[in-house]
Amino acid sequence: MENVVIAGSGPAGLTAAIYTARANLNPLVLEGPAPGGQLTVSYEVENYPGFVEPVSGAELMDRFLKQAERFGTRMSYASVQKAVREGDHIRLETDDGVIETETLIIATGAEARRLPIATEPAFYGKGVSGCATCDGAFYRDQDVLVVGGGNTAMEDAMFLTRFARRVTIVHRRDYFRAAPIEIDKCRKNPKIDWLIPWVLETITGDARGVRGAVLKHADTGETREVECQGIFVAIGHDPKTTPFQGLVPLDDEGFIVAVEGSTCTSTPGVFACGDVRDRRYKQAVLAAGHGCMAALDVEQYLGQRE
Ligand SMILES: Cc1cc2nc3c(=O)[nH]c(=O)nc-3n(C[C@H](O)[C@H](O)[C@H](O)COP(=O)(O)OP(=O)(O)OC[C@H]3O[C@@H](n4cnc5c(N)ncnc54)[C@H](O)[C@@H]3O)c2cc1C
Repeated sequence: MENVVIAGSGPAGLTAAIYTARANLNPLVLEGPAPGGQLTVSYEVENYPGFVEPVSGAELMDRFLKQAERFGTRMSYASVQKAVREGDHIRLETDDGVIETETLIIATGAEARRLPIATEPAFYGKGVSGCATCDGAFYRDQDVLVVGGGNTAMEDAMFLTRFARRVTIVHRRDYFRAAPIEIDKCRKNPKIDWLIPWVLETITGDARGVRGAVLKHADTGETREVECQGIFVAIGHDPKTTPFQGLVPLDDEGFIVAVEGSTCTSTPGVFACGDVRDRRYKQAVLAAGHGCMAALDVEQYLGQRE
């Protein structure tokens, strides 16, 4: 029987590991399909506190890992396939066998939805981004597209006008899911253009990154090429919660519902931290902060059971 199993090895999971390992709880981290988490695909992180110079996401996460291992964290490449509460503990079915644990910290993240076009993967992280807060500052005086029609797309477009020369919102429908007030703010901003209802078909560029995009009118089929250096995709996130369905409550988008102000879920012994329970902010420093909270919540829970 494990004391604490942490599902996920991004900033949330590894911070939880650092804290629980230092508290002598002997944590086991299941790294899952993306060791180090989302940040490992980011070439430059400029907003993680404590790093004056930009640091690559891969290096940052390697430092998290080494710090967790320094205090004795055990790492496994396994992924959770199914988690159920059995009696007073949790049973995890993984691709490397069954694990039983007194507590489970779920830190499996939420993946930004990708554009379903063949040219996108080659430019992801080289001009195509799923995070305006993270990457907007790299596009000073450049032309960028924002793809999406919800509140996030409008907020991202407004935010990007602080840096970019022109921001064009591309949306495949001629109506928006975004709140009218958010759309109004964008309409009043002279730096924002609109391409609706247009669909992004192809990204063009070279080894240096994105140089433009080919768009197709959703009704007429007309195509046009636009120049741009950045494409921000704001079409939602998919929280990685499938293995935990039935174990913990999920909201209408699949994010884990935790008790306000803590990482406790309504299931005893199960805690959730990072992007997997964060509908709004999705930043590494917050995920790390949540990881710390989860570790302290676990300590308290186990202390009360002794
Ligand atoms: C391109 C890019 C650039 C970014 N840049 C910045 C930035 O500059 N600054 C910033 O603050 N944030 C940035 N972010 C956001 C930041 O990466 C996330 O907010 C952060 O990684 C969330 O941490 P997390 O630990 O909650 O989840 P993640 O980092 O998503 O980690 C999830 C972990 O869960 C594991 N996992 C998934 N399913 C399972 C399973 N079934 N069993 C076990 N493990 C599983 C995965 O393998 C992974 O290790 C960026 C994101 C992207 C994609």
